[in-house]
Amino acid sequence: MKFPKQWKSAIDVITKIENAGYEAFIVGGAVRDYYLQKDSSDVDVATSALPQEVQAIFSQTVDVGIDHGTVLVLDCGEPIEVTTYRTESTYSDHRRPDEVNFVRDLPEDLKRRDFTMNAMALRNSGEFVDLFNGRQDIDAQIIRAVGVAEERFQEDALRMLRAIRFSAQMDFSIEENTLKAIQNQVESIKFIAMERIQVEISKIWTSPNSVRAIHYIQWSQLDAYLPGEFDAIEWETFQSMNRQVGWAYFCLVNGHDVALLSAYRCSNKDKQFVKQVLLAYEKLQNEGWQRMDYLQFELEILHTAHLFATWQFVPTTISFEQIEKMKHSLPIQHKSELAISGKDLLQWTSNKAGPWLQTTLQAALSAVVNGQVTNDKEQLKEWFHAFNDEG
Ligand code: ATP
Ligand code: MG
Repeated sequence: MKFPKQWKSAIDVITKIENAGYEAFIVGGAVRDYYLQKDSSDVDVATSALPQEVQAIFSQTVDVGIDHGTVLVLDCGEPIEVTTYRTESTYSDHRRPDEVNFVRDLPEDLKRRDFTMNAMALRNSGEFVDLFNGRQDIDAQIIRAVGVAEERFQEDALRMLRAIRFSAQMDFSIEENTLKAIQNQVESIKFIAMERIQVEISKIWTSPNSVRAIHYIQWSQLDAYLPGEFDAIEWETFQSMNRQVGWAYFCLVNGHDVALLSAYRCSNKDKQFVKQVLLAYEKLQNEGWQRMDYLQFELEILHTAHLFATWQFVPTTISFEQIEKMKHSLPIQHKSELAISGKDLLQWTSNKAGPWLQTTLQAALSAVVNGQVTNDKEQLKEWFHAFNDEG
């Protein structure tokens, strides 16, 4: 197999480290993805050189996590993260090692990694270092903990959710003993910060097989320790590349409970998106969308809410394809395009400024959008006088 083009910088870094007399390998997810012939987002390099030794080899480095042994090398084009081989000591808090020790021995470093597929290393020559039969497990589509599963999850409880997340991303099953070990200690997920849980769950939403992860969350009873209900039946139809869509759907199937977003420490931007989608969905389900709804909601919100109706088998009067047409057929695309402002209204009457301005502008907007009046200042002036006479 030839190395992917995107690895050029990493390979150059490895060559330079080797020329300086140390070992260096590509490690972690990149090796797994390479074996699967899949594109990898980032390439990590592990080395026997100590951080100071790495810094001495290259002229441009950034010390991004020297305590953890990570140096960012900028000399070879793309920035490359180079991490010294390390072992991790005891984990008294179930999430972080009490201390990190640098070592010169690659197997020691691979041993501390989570799953066999993530514990391989690749030499510049193309040779795999695969001490735990990661390739065999990948071929069998299995996620297996490195070493004694019970201990590995005890050390770091997040690994349970990582296993489940990888099962959804890769469409792999979790090996029996590994799954048992998860079932035996789901409770320890409570030691993990919600922000980190949120990251893993977000990755589940955007996975090709999200429902597989939901099944594992149910079977293992991890759901007892996570906010919200995880009900695989609701997720059979779900599919998305957008994590926000996943969070919105999660709230939807949990009785439209947006408070879950706070529980998972989602951002305000996520909350805004979810609220809009749920509002659009409720309107679609109840009275159907009116022309003002097409104006007020962004196309993405409308599309998402419509998808939800499909996933929930809720009948709709409009097809997904018609939504964009409908929106574009409106006389204006945004309320800011209305030809009049509050200032105009004040000029056309002796009334003082007050809340009526907002109400009237909203009525004008609705009249324009519904085709009762053209979006033109003169026409709107006539409309306004007629509107005032009625009122
Ligand atoms: P992704 O495609 O999601 O980035 P990845 O395998 O690269 O997958 P990272 O979180 O980037 O995952 O971690 C890089 C590597 O570090 C992993 O492949 C694994 O070897 C190791 N690793 C990461 N998190 C843990 C953990 N909690 N416990 C043990 N090893 C871990
Ligand atoms: Mg990674």
